[in-house]
Amino acid sequence: MRIVAGLIIAGTVSLCATGVAWSQTPAAKNTTAPAAAAALPAAATPAPAKPPCANPDALGIGRVVEIDTTGGPGFGFEHFKQLDFLREKEVVLTFDDGPWPQNTPSVLKTLADECTTGIFFPIGKHATYYPEILKQVAAAGHTIGSHTWSHATLTNKKLTEDQRKEEIEKGFSAVKWALGASPAPFFRFPALQHPPEMVTYLGTRNIAMFSCDLDSFDFKARNPQQVIDVTMKKLDKLGKGIILLHDFHKYTAEALPALLRKLKADGYKVVQMKAKAPVETLPQYDEELMKDVKLPTISSRPVSSVVQTISE
Ligand SMILES: [Zn+2]
Repeated sequence: MRIVAGLIIAGTVSLCATGVAWSQTPAAKNTTAPAAAAALPAAATPAPAKPPCANPDALGIGRVVEIDTTGGPGFGFEHFKQLDFLREKEVVLTFDDGPWPQNTPSVLKTLADECTTGIFFPIGKHATYYPEILKQVAAAGHTIGSHTWSHATLTNKKLTEDQRKEEIEKGFSAVKWALGASPAPFFRFPALQHPPEMVTYLGTRNIAMFSCDLDSFDFKARNPQQVIDVTMKKLDKLGKGIILLHDFHKYTAEALPALLRKLKADGYKVVQMKAKAPVETLPQYDEELMKDVKLPTISSRPVSSVVQTISE
């Protein structure tokens, strides 16, 4: 679903990338499982304890960084040049356009097998089609942002400013609806097209923008091997970077096991990016989402089992 990378006016970037800070926390040791938590009844455990990594040769997670998204920082050297926080041989895995049947679950399995993680940028509409798949992404501990409501290219002159904002805001509202919780204030523009006024707008919303350092062009690949070859060729040239992939695509899902093995073999380490605080969606768009998509509720229980009079 990507078309062609656009360029952004450098002056606009500097307006939006001020006031950013990130901090690090040591990567969680995969080998230590809280045994006591496992013995507790499920109701007493606030969040499911992550199982220890069963793969001694897993790619794993090199380090974890936390992003303060105040002012809307931009990441990814294809468009944003100011925040160079990755060390040599460090990568961030990012996955766009999901959630999607088969391919997203396959990507999740591969990441779990390698005890590693990525940032997912789902399309709002897709999130409303497959909320249960997006919930699996969250349950696996991955970071989730948004990639607009309908994957509209926001540089399209036919869109009014209000329509562009709606694409951004309703995308976040849809992801929040699907998850039952607010995602990270992390956003990726469709087709990496960055209209300067929307870059400024995201800054006012304290939402971080993610371009990439290297595009796998997996949406153009004719087979899984091509995804690996293009990615590794670019990565070896740069030595590090935020990698753009699509969990939406079959060949990407099929390529991922070998790609992650190759990253490990070549000494690359995955950096997990987390947000300091979740996004604050706007109530207007939360309501609009409910009106527009007329979302079915998952429950098919009769009203008498849902609503009970307990006092009159
Ligand atoms: Zn996309």
